[in-house]
Amino acid sequence: EMEKYLRHAIERDEFKLYYQPVINLENNRLRGVEVLLRWQNSALNNPTPDHFIAVAEQSGLIVGIGKWVLEHACQQVMAWTRSGLPALSVAVNISAKQFELPNLDDRIEQILKEVGLSPLHLECEITEGTLMESPENGLQMMTRLRERGIHLALDDFGTGYSSLAYLKRFPLNTLKIDKAFIDDIAKSNVDRHMAAAIINIAHNLGLKVVAEGVEEESQLDILRRYDCEMLQGFLYSRPLNAERFEKLLTENQKLHTLLGNTQF
Ligand code: C2E
Ligand code: MG
Ligand code: MG
Repeated sequence: EMEKYLRHAIERDEFKLYYQPVINLENNRLRGVEVLLRWQNSALNNPTPDHFIAVAEQSGLIVGIGKWVLEHACQQVMAWTRSGLPALSVAVNISAKQFELPNLDDRIEQILKEVGLSPLHLECEITEGTLMESPENGLQMMTRLRERGIHLALDDFGTGYSSLAYLKRFPLNTLKIDKAFIDDIAKSNVDRHMAAAIINIAHNLGLKVVAEGVEEESQLDILRRYDCEMLQGFLYSRPLNAERFEKLLTENQKLHTLLGNTQF
């Protein structure tokens, strides 16, 4: 049933992109944005990505949907930059099916060219599961994307195999620690030590770390103590629609101008 509706979602204009700020903890500034897909389908009661992305993957529809997400995300970020707002780095989730496309790098480059966005402003988020399906192909594609200047993040670290070999082997820029690992860092010594160890390993491998799903001040304090570079979570902001995110950007810019520093 869901697949049937998904087939027509683009032409019926049912997808919307939401934007969640990624904050740089070193200076408390906005560092970038993760783009998250929303599907407005009242017949299915607006399914969440956790449900419909799986169906899109199984049916192969994710390839078209993923292209739509990339195009619209890049266009929106470019529109904000052109309107005088600070250039943002944009993180887009890439699914396994997209990653299997032999010419994914060309397709992404084509979109960036059409939109006029520099590859240096794009970060592709992939999960361990994606890499596990075909590590050799994964490594090749990642190398090619990196050669084009695109950044790569390993998403949801801690929920899958949390393989340290992957961290060593793949040309990553960023490690995103899953919310499940962040949730109890203020309450549980074990979780705190785990988070500290992961951050440490990532740093030793030259990776930047994003803590996902930060909701409380107490978690933030601990992450700061462990020199985690970035955070994303409801504590700072929920994912926002384009209009509200633009407002946040504008207010941020005004604030920094007032403080005499417009650098993000
Ligand atoms: P993700 O890439 O790990 O995205 C982060 C998820 O955590 C988002 O859920 C976001 O709303 C949620 N989140 C962020 N901060 C907090 C917090 O403080 N508390 C809580 N409770 N949640 C927080 P969302 O938007 O429902 O997306 C779920 C997953 O669906 C994403 O996880 C990603 O794997 C997938 N997804 C979303 N959009 C796309 C897309 O365009 N393409 C693909 N392939 N997958 C997508
Ligand atoms: Mg993600
Ligand atoms: Mg994640």
